[in-house]
Amino acid sequence: MVPSPCCGGELKVIGSRKRKLTSESGESRVLVVRRLRCTQCRKIHHELPDCIVPYKRYESTCVEQVISKPEEASTVAADDATLRRWKNWFREQSTYLLGSLRSIAFRFHQVPVEKLSVPSQSAHHAIGHYVGDAPGWLARIVRPVVNSNLWLHTRSAFLSG
Ligand SMILES: [Zn+2]
Repeated sequence: MVPSPCCGGELKVIGSRKRKLTSESGESRVLVVRRLRCTQCRKIHHELPDCIVPYKRYESTCVEQVISKPEEASTVAADDATLRRWKNWFREQSTYLLGSLRSIAFRFHQVPVEKLSVPSQSAHHAIGHYVGDAPGWLARIVRPVVNSNLWLHTRSAFLSG
């Protein structure tokens, strides 16, 4: 069993809930997300598949495509307002996410892949030092940040989804 992100206690499956997820083509599927309770502090957690970004209805790869190249037309079947919301979300959150990745790396005594040489780099570029910029980088940010309980409003995101 994986130790819980809250206090390292053992997690027990207490149920599941359905969550709708939309793909690049606009098709939806239903995922089953397990509800887990920490047997030590009784905090509730939800299993987070790699394809989910908390709060987002679309697959992680869709959001990633749009925020990676905000100036380019995307192939994601979503309306303009949604695409704009993702770009704004990432612009607003990137500094916070970068800070979270830094503190996680510090906590686990990990050093970024290479030292940041140019101070004026974009946050997206700086994040690449922690998770790389190969496809799936957004999922690689989401998991450690959520698991460290640093994702903003993680819990309500799952409960309201
Ligand atoms: Zn706990």
